[in-house]
Amino acid sequence: MDCIFCKIAGKEISSSLIYEDENVVAFNDLNPQAPVHFLVIPKKHYSSLNEIDSKEVFAQIFSVIPEITKKLGIKEYRTVVNTGASAGQTVFHIHVHVMSGRNFTWPAG
Ligand code: AMP
Ligand code: ZN
Repeated sequence: MDCIFCKIAGKEISSSLIYEDENVVAFNDLNPQAPVHFLVIPKKHYSSLNEIDSKEVFAQIFSVIPEITKKLGIKEYRTVVNTGASAGQTVFHIHVHVMSGRNFTWPAG
């Protein structure tokens, strides 16, 4: 499948990897929108949040976020999941944005 995040998970293309386990990888966003901006993805391909078929996958993705932020010394951060083009999704492999290091406005644009 021609999916850039599958290729990152499979190490076919390089990324700035910051975390990896059996099910999940996290890597720095290529076009960071904050001083800290990384993405957490399941290794298995799901095109969006709508396709996830197992509660375990949610647990795998979200449980690593406080682990990673703790290691980075981050206590406050924004998490974003864009689902569908109109919501801003451009890569159709589910990913959670984690951003920190600046103030964020609400509502998100
Ligand atoms: P979204 O718009 O929510 O689908 O987010 C996709 C994100 O993936 C954007 O923030 C891009 O900057 C990021 N991105 C795209 N290609 C890469 C890549 N090869 N390595 C790291 N981040 C990427
Ligand atoms: Zn994929």
